[in-house]
Amino acid sequence: MTNTLATVVPADLDDRPAETDDPIRDAHRVLQWAHRRFGRQLCVTASFGDAVLAHVASEAIPGVEITLLDTGYLFAETEWFADDLRQRFALDVRIVRPDADLPKNVWQTDTDACCAARKVEPLNRALLGRTSWVTGLRRSDSPSRRTAPFVHHDLLRNVVKINPLAGWTDAHVVTYVAAYGLPDHPLADRGFASIGCWPCTRPVRDGEDQRSGRWAGSGKTECGLHQ
Ligand code: SF4
Repeated sequence: MTNTLATVVPADLDDRPAETDDPIRDAHRVLQWAHRRFGRQLCVTASFGDAVLAHVASEAIPGVEITLLDTGYLFAETEWFADDLRQRFALDVRIVRPDADLPKNVWQTDTDACCAARKVEPLNRALLGRTSWVTGLRRSDSPSRRTAPFVHHDLLRNVVKINPLAGWTDAHVVTYVAAYGLPDHPLADRGFASIGCWPCTRPVRDGEDQRSGRWAGSGKTECGLHQ
């Protein structure tokens, strides 16, 4: 995918902050760096499966726009939670939706095609005119994310991709949520550890990784946003 409206993505990232043994502080530092470096060409996407990324970003960059990709199949609880956080923390939430004319229920027959139309295409649209993309990806999410970089060039989308929470463990999330008194997603206490679309998300069982409830039993582990 080519980000046709983007200006030239900087090749030189030598001034990016290095990761330290304090991932929570690192998240703030890299977001502040990204704001200085990219300004309004920064796109922060949050899934609102929890409050962390939206809160960290709005603390580090007051007034920053937070983009929610609404596939049309979000849990009602996620829509409620995103709106609750918007009101609590005066977040500037931009909602990007898929093409209104898409066929319905494609998830029943072809989850890759459904994700391509309802997640990947809207993300690509959300990134038009932006040179950098902030995500909530964590290495501890799943084995497939174990080597996720902190800051790198996403050559597929022609943006600088920033994963401020890359080094966070579940313990860091618990610490941060407690420190700021953040609310939990309403499904969190029902066993949902990673919350996507309702047709493709189930609660996780003891000992399973965070994302094992996504497309469970299908072999699919990613929707195509992170490649
Ligand atoms: S997670 Fe499921 S419902 Fe959501 S876009 Fe992908 S296939 Fe469709």
